[in-house]
Amino acid sequence: MASYWIETLGCPKNHVDSEKLAGRLQSQGYVAALSVEEADLVVANTCAFIEAAREESIDTVLELADVKARNAQLVVTGCMAERYGEELAEALPEVDLVAGFGVDLVAPTPVSLRSRSTFDLLNLPRPPRATPWAYVKIAEGCDRRCGFCAIPSFRGDQRSRSREEILAETDNLVAAGAREIVLIAQDLASWGHDRRRSRRGEALEVLDEGGRQPVVDLVRSLSSRVEWVRLLYLYPSGLTDELIDAIIESGVPYFDLSLQHVSRDLLRGMNRWGDGARFLERIQRIRERDPQATFRSSFILGYPGETEDDQRQLVEFLEAAQLDWAGFFTYSKEEGTASAGRDAHVAPELALERLREVSEIQDAISARRRDALVGTLQHVLVEAPGRARSVRECPEIDGVIVVDEGLAVGAFVDVEIVESRGMDLVGAVR
Ligand code: SF4
Repeated sequence: MASYWIETLGCPKNHVDSEKLAGRLQSQGYVAALSVEEADLVVANTCAFIEAAREESIDTVLELADVKARNAQLVVTGCMAERYGEELAEALPEVDLVAGFGVDLVAPTPVSLRSRSTFDLLNLPRPPRATPWAYVKIAEGCDRRCGFCAIPSFRGDQRSRSREEILAETDNLVAAGAREIVLIAQDLASWGHDRRRSRRGEALEVLDEGGRQPVVDLVRSLSSRVEWVRLLYLYPSGLTDELIDAIIESGVPYFDLSLQHVSRDLLRGMNRWGDGARFLERIQRIRERDPQATFRSSFILGYPGETEDDQRQLVEFLEAAQLDWAGFFTYSKEEGTASAGRDAHVAPELALERLREVSEIQDAISARRRDALVGTLQHVLVEAPGRARSVRECPEIDGVIVVDEGLAVGAFVDVEIVESRGMDLVGAVR
């Protein structure tokens, strides 16, 4: 029986795509290989988000080409294949097929690089998972045009899955043992707007002016089917009062706000909404509603035009916001984005210096917030032997809670936090 090996790079969205590819291959009679050396079909699901990710993707493809069996087929898919397909095919003679999203990797006849319609990756079934949580991708693409981001140029405009498809996938995951689902999309709070638009021919509604938000009902429906529903990547203007209510009432008050910066001028230069004062006001409002609310965000340092004053505003914001978790990235000039052609690029060393400054501040804040949990009781989901998470910790991104190895994977238990170890905590069953 033919076997496959999939190597996945990049973000959680790519991991969902890989699971769906695995489901597709299994439905075609393939079985998972135990190692890349044994596989008949080797797939690299690449990431093209920034320069460093592209380099890692190329290195991985070359390593796979080295270790795979001589007769095995090597296929490159994912964002890099989508974005640089023809160049990649020319530059990597080791590769048998460079295939964009939705291309059937094992079609009986050769497939053309850009043929997208062979199958719909979003709605493919997925094989059972070993963990008691799973990502569910609810949309692909994005209708926004942030100045630094190339995603819309190769993933296209937002394409939301239907409510029925999402609920059916969730029901299957729950039946297979999932107790938490993590919703992902490029711009999660705008889920469903493309569907309404195509029905009514309207432009993307501006939620701040009172638009209704389909994701609110979706979150409510999902949280009646599975214990925990977590939402990743919320564009800040999408965080309406009704969505805040739905998230808090779901029992997982975890807010992953994609802020990118807080300086109003810089945000406008990024073609993004908001400023530090508005973000702080929302965070404050949420904490008043639920003091247990947890906040994560990510920020870019060194965006073209960034000044010392912008950096000062970010430092002040971090100190005032006291976020639980934050990720910092230096700006990467991406082809096909509005910022690539701008002047006033910040020297990479200066961007790195600014990144170090804010990382140090945030690390101390995160550590203090973790320390403050010692002595509290937490309801946790055991996700692997000896490892659990409460609603404060997102899988694969945040710290974890170390627990007794004997606790059953998939069980919810109450633990007392007895120790803090950097970003991780230690919990003892009470
Ligand atoms: S909202 Fe996110 S995915 Fe969409 S353009 Fe902005 S950064 Fe890119």
